[in-house]
Amino acid sequence: MQPQAAHAGAILTVDLGALRSNYRLLRKQAGSALCGAAVKADAYGLGAARVGPALAAEGCRHFFVAHLDEGIALRPHLPATAQIFVLHGPPPGAEQEFISHGLLPVLNSLQQIQGWHALAQMLQRPLPAIVQVDSGMSRMGLPAAEAEAWLADPRYLQTIPPLFLMSHLACAEHQDHPMNASQLARFNTLRQRLLQVPASLANSSGIFLGSDYQFDLVRPGAALYGIAPVAGAANPLQPVAALHGRILQTRSIERGDHVGYGISYSATEQRQIATVGVGYADGWLRGMSNRGLVFIDGRAVPMVGTVSMDSITIDVTGIAAERLQAGALVELIGPHRPVDDVARLAGTIGYEILTGLGHRYHREYIGGL
Ligand SMILES: *Cc1c(COP(=O)(O)O)cnc(C)c1O
Repeated sequence: MQPQAAHAGAILTVDLGALRSNYRLLRKQAGSALCGAAVKADAYGLGAARVGPALAAEGCRHFFVAHLDEGIALRPHLPATAQIFVLHGPPPGAEQEFISHGLLPVLNSLQQIQGWHALAQMLQRPLPAIVQVDSGMSRMGLPAAEAEAWLADPRYLQTIPPLFLMSHLACAEHQDHPMNASQLARFNTLRQRLLQVPASLANSSGIFLGSDYQFDLVRPGAALYGIAPVAGAANPLQPVAALHGRILQTRSIERGDHVGYGISYSATEQRQIATVGVGYADGWLRGMSNRGLVFIDGRAVPMVGTVSMDSITIDVTGIAAERLQAGALVELIGPHRPVDDVARLAGTIGYEILTGLGHRYHREYIGGL
């Protein structure tokens, strides 16, 4: 059960209308390719049980989670016509669970192919799946030698009709990175041998690399949630997540007074300090200590002192007292503070900020289902 709005240290607002609009933009950008959605890690922290149906209402029918149990949890929230693909494939011995829960695996190794093949033989029917090959990222998917072994045994293609041949790009947000073309070439070389099989290569950023990269299905995640897909370019997506923290209390400090753990901030003159109920346990990274910015009515307010587990301290000198009452809200992520800006300041990426957001927020879903 989620905390009540009035009791929570912060309110996380998820704009399902903006999410749907982002989906439409990405689908258009993807040309003739189908547009799926990565909803792993609870839809990047925003709630797969709400995000999934909103995307399904836009016509999305290809959903990607990372873990089997994420797929099991998502299944009841999606129409029967929606396919849920589990990116990590079956954990050893868990193949049967995919059948019982109506999920499809992404097979990433010869071992996973053998396990899925054995189940198909036992059930005496073909069991479709996505097969992922490694095109240069060395993370998931069949390495070249395993791909050869897979293609060399005709039984596998009979028992496991590939729904898509899939791979994943390592550097797609950097449009001029030579790795993109290199991975595309490796992927296409393998694809030549399975021309009847649809293909899928692009994540959010990959969609913006052009039609050569889009194939038959694209798999955006981050861009759906408003994260910028192209490094150094304007972000065409709408923000989906906003985070507003509550002021817990306010005090005046004098020159020489200190703030927070390790007294990493000391005042050189009289300052007003407000404490806000969000901390590193809520994903508000400690690396933002003495660096972060929050906004009050569009005005930038610096974070001072070290980020605590449950709170941060901000310098609100000059802000009207009635705007600083206990319970008043300050903007941590929102129109003045895009998630990518927060991430840059914390030395990370928007993905990590969103997926780290934690479960103590009161969540509000607006703009849709
Ligand atoms: C997470 C993931 C995606 C989505 O990537 P984004 O960069 O968030 O668009 C697509 N494909 C695979 C294999 C993934 O792991």
